[in-house]
Amino acid sequence: MKTEILQANEENIVKCAEFIKNGGIVAFPTETVYGLGACAFDEKATEKIFVAKGRPATNPLIIHVSEKSQIDTVAEVSEQARRLIDALMPGAFTLVLPKKSIVPSIVTAGFDTVAVRMPDHEVALALINAVGKPICAPSANSSARPSPTTAMHVYEDLCGNIPYILDGGKCPFGVESTIIDMTRTPPKVLRAGSVDISRVEDIIGEIDKSSMIIDQLADSKTPMNFMPRAELTFSAYYEGMDRTICEYYDSLSKQGRKPIIFCLSKNASLYGDRRVMEMGKTVKEYASRLFETVREAERTYDSIIAEGVPFGGIGTTLLARLMKMSNGNVI
Ligand code: AMP
Ligand code: MG
Repeated sequence: MKTEILQANEENIVKCAEFIKNGGIVAFPTETVYGLGACAFDEKATEKIFVAKGRPATNPLIIHVSEKSQIDTVAEVSEQARRLIDALMPGAFTLVLPKKSIVPSIVTAGFDTVAVRMPDHEVALALINAVGKPICAPSANSSARPSPTTAMHVYEDLCGNIPYILDGGKCPFGVESTIIDMTRTPPKVLRAGSVDISRVEDIIGEIDKSSMIIDQLADSKTPMNFMPRAELTFSAYYEGMDRTICEYYDSLSKQGRKPIIFCLSKNASLYGDRRVMEMGKTVKEYASRLFETVREAERTYDSIIAEGVPFGGIGTTLLARLMKMSNGNVI
């Protein structure tokens, strides 16, 4: 199959929407990462997503809506969930709610709950709007690869498996949505993400944050499902770790390995003439560049040593992604 990258203009959005309405799948940009979407009520189309990505059927998809009222068509909305929807949607967070029967079980991997979000991205909203129905979509990478934050990343992973990629440029956040399970009391964070949990707690009170660093996603059989090609290690602490990082770098070099250090720009000079990739001035920039820099680094280097960051807010999300990609390999 030929894979075309289409500029996300009005004409191409309509073309892709028609394609989805007719049972096709299309990759599209959101404010978090690129998604691979099908009509959420079309079982056959949804199956194509699992095949194209090589995704296990046990891992459910997120339903994306362009209007808040569409959430009520796919899920039971509690009063507490309603407050979050009113206050924070559109936004980079996903609610897990009791599912309604209109949602095919392939979308939810057989669970009686459904994950729903309203993306805060012009192209994503226009596409869903033009389809006229919710779109189910996981990230548009192949399984076991980091999530894609540009159309080119999608192309690298899924070329030949999907017909269209809507190119809306780089995803502003570059990390996936925060997922909150609203079917538990108290509600529980299943995945730390782009939206800070404190914003959620400001609205509904304290929630269960016991799984912030290790995701508690539905598919527990494949929890470590994005491994880069270069071996990733990260420092658990963020202050005074430069000596440990340098020692580890030097020991890898002596073994004939090709290491690279991911660091905040202000720390680059601490590593002397060792190779570094600067991840920006802030933890937020570091998080938003993580997936693209991993993809860039693994072309040339076989080991990535990433600086740790302080726990809290987007820092927690970044640590969770480092934990996942390193398979817990901490120095
Ligand atoms: P992705 O968009 O690729 O991050 O994939 C969607 C994520 O949402 C997966 O990690 C799923 O495990 C999670 N998810 C989707 N539906 C549910 C659900 N009903 N309960 C818990 N997690 C879910
Ligand atoms: Mg994914």
